[in-house]
Amino acid sequence: MALAEYHQRSSLAASQILEGFDPAAFEQRLGTTIVGLAFDAEISNAAEGRQLLDMTVRLLARVYPRLDLTAGPGGTAEVVRLRRLARAINPRIEITRHGASDVGIEVGAVHPRFATSIYAGSDGWDALVSTSSPQACGDTPNPFGAGTAACLATANVFRRVFLDGWDTLLDHNLRLSTYELTRGKTPPDVSNSGWTLGAESVLVGVGAIGMGTVWALSRAPLDGVVHLVDPEDVDVGNLQRYVLARMSDVGRSKVALGAKAFTGQMQARPHKQKWAGFIAEQGFTWSSVLTAMDSAEARVDVQASLPRWLANAWTQPGDLGVSVHPTFGSEGACLGCLYLPTGPERNEDEIVAEALGIPGRLLEVRTLLHLGAPVPDQVFSEIAQALGIPTEEMRRFHGRPIRDLYVEGICGAALLALGDPAQSQRAVHVPLPHQSALAGILLAAALARKAVDRGPGLTAVTRLDVLKPAALDITQPARARGDGRCICEDEDYRSVYGSKYSSD
Ligand SMILES: [Zn+2]
Repeated sequence: MALAEYHQRSSLAASQILEGFDPAAFEQRLGTTIVGLAFDAEISNAAEGRQLLDMTVRLLARVYPRLDLTAGPGGTAEVVRLRRLARAINPRIEITRHGASDVGIEVGAVHPRFATSIYAGSDGWDALVSTSSPQACGDTPNPFGAGTAACLATANVFRRVFLDGWDTLLDHNLRLSTYELTRGKTPPDVSNSGWTLGAESVLVGVGAIGMGTVWALSRAPLDGVVHLVDPEDVDVGNLQRYVLARMSDVGRSKVALGAKAFTGQMQARPHKQKWAGFIAEQGFTWSSVLTAMDSAEARVDVQASLPRWLANAWTQPGDLGVSVHPTFGSEGACLGCLYLPTGPERNEDEIVAEALGIPGRLLEVRTLLHLGAPVPDQVFSEIAQALGIPTEEMRRFHGRPIRDLYVEGICGAALLALGDPAQSQRAVHVPLPHQSALAGILLAAALARKAVDRGPGLTAVTRLDVLKPAALDITQPARARGDGRCICEDEDYRSVYGSKYSSD
């Protein structure tokens, strides 16, 4: 079968959200499902249509080994381009051109013979998804509605293929405004181009979410500079959900890959380092910072360095979200408020200790993570025992830091025997590609909105469950904790924040 080399990761991602997950059945379903994508040539001539098709192929090709790619008359050149893109993502992918499959995404009106069609379109900031009628695509340079529609349509395909009772789980008629972050229409006076960001911005974390952010920012009509900060390189397991990565990018630094995408108006500056190193070199005063990282601790560190405006995106099993924090020390929640324990995610040490099967050694795990020292023999054999892996097979991790065991062994699925429910724990969270990409695009939209609407705004948290139709109310205001535990109630932090940004 034409499964991608990194298929194990998709399987792991699916195992975390599908009830009674069976890897053999999952593989068989993938092997027997052909997912269609059909579009009319007029759509691929519209700017938003091209963005929508591009993101859709980037998402589908990472999960499904068989695609059916068809276009109406005049669309051959675009089919060739998309086919090349799909093969760069999964060189083993099978691509047919029949216009007939069980489920497919239809862009424009082409009338393919899909048993279930998910119609996707966009209108500037707005994503359009329907199960009943073809949707149009705008011709504006705004990529946010189109990119979001691709993610939502792909989420519908996933539900159609893998969930029982799927007919009640599709978005039958959805318009989602990436400007307002609500269901419904963006106000017509909000422009779709000519956006200017005054000061330089920073994106911290160019992983699964960050690459979705880069995809959108690099295509947006946005005048400005963004610094990309991430110390890591792309590995093969990342391809499962990194929308910018092709097989040939394995081993390249994440920030270099991100920076290469900026061929348009916005400029990117890559920094292959951690946040602490970045601010030590480049300074502590930033007017807009986007966080797309995988640990609560790292997010709180960014908040503690007191950027003027901060937006954050996350994924958790099944859902994703974005929070926007316009001012620190106000009545709205700061990012620290959300990530103190009981926030949406647990600390890295807890996640790692649990994933490696040694929750009782939390303090030791915390120290090992902090020092980066080799895992002591005693702890090493406890991990082997807890995961039920012969010490022999764990040998290549011997003498290496605990983070490597977690990142390569667990997240990279090298040590994980799938199908053992005790091991495919929800704590080892691997998101689906459309989930990470959507979180990233919404994060980018929050920054672009800042360029359009300079009002201060209030802290707001947006959540979307990718396994269900979009809820009516996806965005809620979030108030500061007010229990005296967060840095936003600390007088010292508040006065530093006040003096940092007092001149403008
Ligand atoms: Zn706070």
